[in-house]
Amino acid sequence: MLLPTTTYRTTAFVEAARQIGVELTVASEQASTFEGANPAGLLTLDFKNPERAADDVQVFARKQPIQGVVGVDDDTAIVAAAIAARLKLKGNPTEAAEAARDKHQQRKLLAKAGVPIPRFMLRRLDEDPATIARSVTFPCVVKPLRLSASRGVMRADNVQGFINAQKRLNAILCEPEASFLVEEFIPGYEVALEGLVVNRRLHVLAIFDKPDPLDGPFFEETIYVTPSTVPAGLQSSIKDCAERAIRALGITEGPVHAELRYNENGPWLIELAARPIGGRCSAVLRFGAGVTLEEIIVRHALGMPLPSLQRERQAAGVMMIPIPGAGTLQEVSGVAEAKAVPLVEDVQITAHPGERLVPFPEGSRYPGFIFARGDTASAVEAALRAAHRKLTFTLLPPRPPASSEAPTRP
Ligand code: ADP
Repeated sequence: MLLPTTTYRTTAFVEAARQIGVELTVASEQASTFEGANPAGLLTLDFKNPERAADDVQVFARKQPIQGVVGVDDDTAIVAAAIAARLKLKGNPTEAAEAARDKHQQRKLLAKAGVPIPRFMLRRLDEDPATIARSVTFPCVVKPLRLSASRGVMRADNVQGFINAQKRLNAILCEPEASFLVEEFIPGYEVALEGLVVNRRLHVLAIFDKPDPLDGPFFEETIYVTPSTVPAGLQSSIKDCAERAIRALGITEGPVHAELRYNENGPWLIELAARPIGGRCSAVLRFGAGVTLEEIIVRHALGMPLPSLQRERQAAGVMMIPIPGAGTLQEVSGVAEAKAVPLVEDVQITAHPGERLVPFPEGSRYPGFIFARGDTASAVEAALRAAHRKLTFTLLPPRPPASSEAPTRP
């Protein structure tokens, strides 16, 4: 199990492995002080270098056989693919995982396969924005190639907006030679599709509605609720669109998470990732008799029999709590009141006092998550909103940047 030190996913995956009695080796990018005490259970890998990580796992596996590999996010999905290829385990071809990770590579493959996607062009941050803007049709979306969680993704409606967006992306990436994408803005409603690919076939685990409009200029997510209220026919064309994208990228096995939009021209593939839903959101999904998404992923990676992939009957939702502003978090009040809202299952505040909160598009770390379950999607959505209204975040304003004209001490 490839678990970056900063991930929220550790508990859910480790618990899933424990539930099904799997012997787990946890690989992370930073050495653990417990490694000596538990040489079969802990391993340090360089996640930035998938081939080297695969070399190291190959050596490790001579002493401690490995039967399956699971990555939990965009970067470890590539490392997992490299390890799977090397050890002949179940997994994606490395190029497929790479193509899912790189937004430009993904766009090229999807375009070639005729999957409906926005028109796009690749540009460099050190090009003159006013010149680029001349060939742009507005509104457009400016986005980095390899960030996630909508970080750095901005809509621009005119030349000045584009110039500002490119400047802002430049400041976020601090890498003037980096390339970025300029895309046509696709209006419409957005859904997220959670799936598991088994031997090239997509099994849809859930389609989530995103009831808050995502029209920009930044694309902070809030509520995900399932089952979707999108008509069945449209849901099936959404699934077809995701399936075509999976085929185009060459994804063969494992979890996928896709964002799609739909409008009068049908579904559009915005992005497909070869990993499960991020943050703490997976807790919203329960299958059959209470099986978790992580258990399904671990079972699949090991080639164990899969339980029912049918989600439970109840509607379920999660709110990624909007970033309340820029500043240092002092206190969150109202958590008990939010938890007491009917249908609300849990309120998890993941930001800690003293943490600096950074709004979109520079930041992307939600301060917490609210979970609810109920008979209908609309009741769940209302419960999430009611719980959110109970929360108050107290922030200390950010310190103004040190002025270069500040008097120096004699
Ligand atoms: P990330 O991987 O950082 O989440 P995405 O490419 O998925 O980046 O973009 C984040 C969000 O921005 C999407 O979920 C969508 O709401 C919005 N978005 C991105 N590209 C477009 C586009 N071309 N048209 C409309 N909305 C877009």
